Amino acid sequence: MKASEIRHTFLKFFESKGHTIVASSPVVPGDDPTLLFTNAGMNQFKDVFLGFDKRAYSRATTSQKCIRAGGKHNDLDNVGYTARHHTFFEMLGNFSFGDYFKHDAIQYAWELLTQHFKLPAEKLWVTVYSEDDEAYEIWNKVVGVPAERIVRIGDNKGGRYMSDNFWMMGDTGPCGPCTEIFYDHGPDVAGGPPGSPNEDGDRYIEIWNNVFMQFNRTEDGVMHKLPKPSVDTGMGLERLAAVLQHVHSNYEIDTFVALLASAKQAVDAAGGGDCDADSASLKVIADHIRACSFTIVDGVIPGNEGRGYVLRRIARRAIRHGYKLGARVPFFHKILPALVGQMGDAYPELRQAEARVTEVLRQEEERFFQTIERGMDILDTALATGTRQIDGETAFKLHDTFGFPVDLTADVCRERGVTVDQAGFDAAMARQRDQARAAGKFKMAAGLEYSGVATAFHGYEHLNCDTSKVVAVYVD
Ligand code: ATP
Ligand code: MG
Ligand code: MG
Ligand code: MG
Repeated sequence: MKASEIRHTFLKFFESKGHTIVASSPVVPGDDPTLLFTNAGMNQFKDVFLGFDKRAYSRATTSQKCIRAGGKHNDLDNVGYTARHHTFFEMLGNFSFGDYFKHDAIQYAWELLTQHFKLPAEKLWVTVYSEDDEAYEIWNKVVGVPAERIVRIGDNKGGRYMSDNFWMMGDTGPCGPCTEIFYDHGPDVAGGPPGSPNEDGDRYIEIWNNVFMQFNRTEDGVMHKLPKPSVDTGMGLERLAAVLQHVHSNYEIDTFVALLASAKQAVDAAGGGDCDADSASLKVIADHIRACSFTIVDGVIPGNEGRGYVLRRIARRAIRHGYKLGARVPFFHKILPALVGQMGDAYPELRQAEARVTEVLRQEEERFFQTIERGMDILDTALATGTRQIDGETAFKLHDTFGFPVDLTADVCRERGVTVDQAGFDAAMARQRDQARAAGKFKMAAGLEYSGVATAFHGYEHLNCDTSKVVAVYVD
């Protein structure tokens, strides 16, 4: 079953159960300052769960474009290292706004997986929140999952409600206990069952999370009861496709096969020669073209702050991986036609914006290709000393002068088992910020012109750094 058929089957199944099919919302949340990017299907329904907004329906189903590259849900560092994480992915979901609750949600999920997608029941494992006896009983007594394959997951991650089975959108917002469904990819893949010490392998893959929305968490950490118990579920389309296409990695599903082929072609033509088709770098590139393109579609452009900086970090990371494979001229934007071919029907906004996305990416590539070679030389020289840690000054210089976001430097280092002195980097950053402020004040006092200031201060390319005051100096 192709990914597009899986998406269709999911939506039609829930439509047959009285759900309204609702279009994906943009990856840039329109009116939610607490969110960097849309990270789950429920985001667009947040106010409905909270009781602030009413819809004409009490059941909905979506295939939602999601980005997890910042904030509470950040999988950027996982990409290229696990078989299951993307920065951009599609989340299939069904939602009940004070309509059905645990019984129906669990039974719908089971029916869809075992009868429509025909997954063998014995390959499925489930987890429930440790205190949720009700969900446990439904799985065990009503659905008939044997106790050996139901795992209770407690608050073992640093305090109450810090469990994998207590889902939160972010530090604030709707949340509640959840039950997750895992698929066992079989003994030839490494990894242990959920809840075991080696659960993070690629053998037992979490495919679907069913959240029983019951609370709204406010900034003070207090859990307020929602007006009505609700249901929010999310299943990664790519993970389900891997299962249904009998492959063990998301990168082997139909949509990624096409993207990987195009990425290889683009890298090869840009200097890669005949690069290794199985390289993890190609997977990173194929992943990142999706995240970059969909954020640009929704209006983000690469920049030094906020969403623009996340986009820049993802794009430059992809470019660096192409460089690693031998590319010496822009290649990344050339994957766009393949992406549009794969996803343009499901998301027409992508097809519409193709020319703009291509141009934005091409410009970012041209900019970064001007400095990447010298930056990589500096980093390679530092790594050649055999150090186990790159010092903060070097990381800062790479960032400040060569446009290497620090996580890009860390990504290169990680490949060689080396870390980056983040504290040293932060200190160098803070020092430069203080110097810049002082210089700014001095110049202001002296009534000097500010030409060239923008380039002089391109070093503030750090998400966590407070640029507001510095910017104010120039604006004034
Ligand atoms: P994991 O534990 O594997 O990181 P998660 O528990 O963080 O997943 P949820 O927040 O429960 O994920 O999201 C619901 C579903 O979305 C998951 O069950 C999975 O199928 C899918 N999903 C989550 N993160 C990713 C990702 N980075 N790439 C692809 N699919 C994902
Ligand atoms: Mg996760
Ligand atoms: Mg999980
Ligand atoms: Mg989960």
